[in-house]
Amino acid sequence: MRLKLSQRVLGLEASPTLAITSRAKELKKKGHDIVSFTAGEPDFDTPSHIKEAAIRAINEGHTKYTPVGGIDELKEAIIERYRKDHSLEYSKEEILVSCGGKHSFYNLCQALLDQGDEVIVPAPYWVSYPPMVRLAGGVPRIVSTDEKDGFKISPEELENAITEKTKAIVINSPSNPTGAVYSHEELKALVEIAVERGVLVISDEIYDKLVYGEVESVCAAGVCEGARENTIVLNGVSKSYSMTGWRIGYALGPKELIDAMMRIQSQSTSNPTSISQWASVAAISGSQQCVEEMKREFKKRRDIMVDGLNSIEGISCIRPHGAFYVFANVSALFGRRYNDRVINSSVEFASFLLDTVEVCVVPGAGFGDDRFVRLSFACSEEDIKKGVERIREAVGLLR
Ligand code: GLU
Repeated sequence: MRLKLSQRVLGLEASPTLAITSRAKELKKKGHDIVSFTAGEPDFDTPSHIKEAAIRAINEGHTKYTPVGGIDELKEAIIERYRKDHSLEYSKEEILVSCGGKHSFYNLCQALLDQGDEVIVPAPYWVSYPPMVRLAGGVPRIVSTDEKDGFKISPEELENAITEKTKAIVINSPSNPTGAVYSHEELKALVEIAVERGVLVISDEIYDKLVYGEVESVCAAGVCEGARENTIVLNGVSKSYSMTGWRIGYALGPKELIDAMMRIQSQSTSNPTSISQWASVAAISGSQQCVEEMKREFKKRRDIMVDGLNSIEGISCIRPHGAFYVFANVSALFGRRYNDRVINSSVEFASFLLDTVEVCVVPGAGFGDDRFVRLSFACSEEDIKKGVERIREAVGLLR
């Protein structure tokens, strides 16, 4: 048989963040002394009270199908959290629990987009937004933002990007990969335009608990009148509770949209893992001390990484206010060479680091800006110091 794949999948590449992370892991396994700054996941173990809740769930027999959209206990925990943290009231019908934040976004695109519908995606963006929009037949309309504006889209830029085909705008605050966090005022200005123009706000708030004291993270659904009805909030337990492998994400938004997403989920994956859902109840409604401890560590590591990178000639980065990534500008090094090798792109710079000093970073190209590389500081302080020194050594080889 001559297998003929769908048109849909022909141009589709595997997620670059996942591909590079597993490449670094493989090299390590083979004995290479790799310093990896690729991982989009905390290096901490999942807190023990969360693991115990999962073990309890198994022992109590919570091992069967659950309602497609999630167990009531988890929805209640989410409702309580949004009430407490953001003074927002949601009902169970306005919540859908899925297999990770990525799955929530996927369901959303499938439920929302028709062929040719546009979704405004400010760049730098998280690698999977454009492919998921395209898989649903939509068109990602990329709006580049600048480092000097803190990588944030302005109200004017949003206005200018809206066409009669615009269905939604993606806002990811705190941002992966830049760590930018929109203030209440900045978010309000954007959401007001979206409300006025009838454009849905897709607010990916997966890093909302990971901010480092300089700013607060704000929920887009609460910034102005009409925001709640005009916004779908995406969140999950992966990043805040170090639960990436458990695969639990959730969406809060208009009932009609949530119900459509639920129908897609019911015809594809069914419910997310029952055991992970019970673990997530413990994560969301239990003590938040574990989050505070991780944050303290992340902040220390962030500062070591930012100060270290900024002390290397040719590399510069702004201090991220949230998430756990540094987006470093390496374009001042473009045009320089090492032996026969000329560095002219983020991909070339990343391979140069891997080949010469065994440091793994993610090229900015996958995030929509080729002048940068992304480094995760969700790894040990020792690795950060070692990795930064190796980068300094590698840059020193360039002429
Ligand atoms: N969101 C994480 C990252 O950006 C995990 C990998 C992925 O799903 O892309 O590295």
